[in-house]
Amino acid sequence: MPATIIDGRAVAARLREQIARDVAALPEPPGLATLLVGDDPASAVYVASKRRQCVQAGMRDLHHHLPADIGAGELGELIDRLSADPEVTGILLQLPLPRHLDPAPLLERIHPDKDVDGLTETSTARLVLGAPGLRPCTPAGVMMLLDEAGVPLEGAEAVVVGRSNLVGKPMAQLLLARNATVTICHSRTRDLAAVCRRGDILVAAAGVPRMLGPDAVKPGATVIDVGIHRTADGLCGDVDTDAVRAVAGAITPVPGGVGPMTIAMLLRNTVTAAGLPAAAHAGV
Ligand code: NDP
Repeated sequence: MPATIIDGRAVAARLREQIARDVAALPEPPGLATLLVGDDPASAVYVASKRRQCVQAGMRDLHHHLPADIGAGELGELIDRLSADPEVTGILLQLPLPRHLDPAPLLERIHPDKDVDGLTETSTARLVLGAPGLRPCTPAGVMMLLDEAGVPLEGAEAVVVGRSNLVGKPMAQLLLARNATVTICHSRTRDLAAVCRRGDILVAAAGVPRMLGPDAVKPGATVIDVGIHRTADGLCGDVDTDAVRAVAGAITPVPGGVGPMTIAMLLRNTVTAAGLPAAAHAGV
């Protein structure tokens, strides 16, 4: 029997409805400050989508479009101001930045209670320590998909392919926090397919189109495909979905799997941020 398709669009739609109800129940709507530097077309599309969904959920859209040649000093000062501004609940610095800007020190200027992308050092420490905080959106979205699909995590073998700070590492931490036994693979892993076959859960986040085929999948496993690639025949992920469907128990499609969850989790984080100490000063 071919694998069940895990419908990320449907899960994300339900989550957005819940978020809109949560926002309506707050004394004041949270405000999301999106910072777009320059005119990278892909980034512009992502930010437009985030802003649209933020407004649809009843939140305040506090957008800043900044020139591509803005200096690190000026951008850093803006982030400091937003971090201290009680009207601002969450701050999102859209990456990648133009080459002359180093993202790491700029991200660090985001107040950790407003770090809705979950990428600052404090958010990372909170994740690793299991303390309350804002989690990176894509891995948090994967966890929600696994829960919605009823996938048992406790004691399960989970294999994560990729170790980026954005996806792979936080993904592994979130799975570990739910008592999965986690293996992280990367470009130096020997016999990748054999290691992947250990996984009851396989999360592919390598950024290589259709890299993982049926030989990398344990029969009945749940396969989560984080990868997203634009190819001549349309969008595809890191998994050869058609071939893997014959082996896996459940699989996320590309598009329509993990992708829709990422923005929904950004909205979720903004609501969570409204309850963190930095927002308490704003009376929200
Ligand atoms: P990165 O390029 O930052 O990281 C890729 C990771 O995969 C690295 O750790 C790398 O290993 C590893 N890797 C690369 N090639 C191989 C290989 N042949 N075998 C094993 N491991 C390999 O990517 P991201 O983590 O940022 O993103 C991963 C994918 O997810 C991309 O396709 C991206 O577009 C997509 N993505 C999708 C999102 C969504 O919302 N759906 C959100 C974010 C990302 P090493 O460390 O050794 O170099």
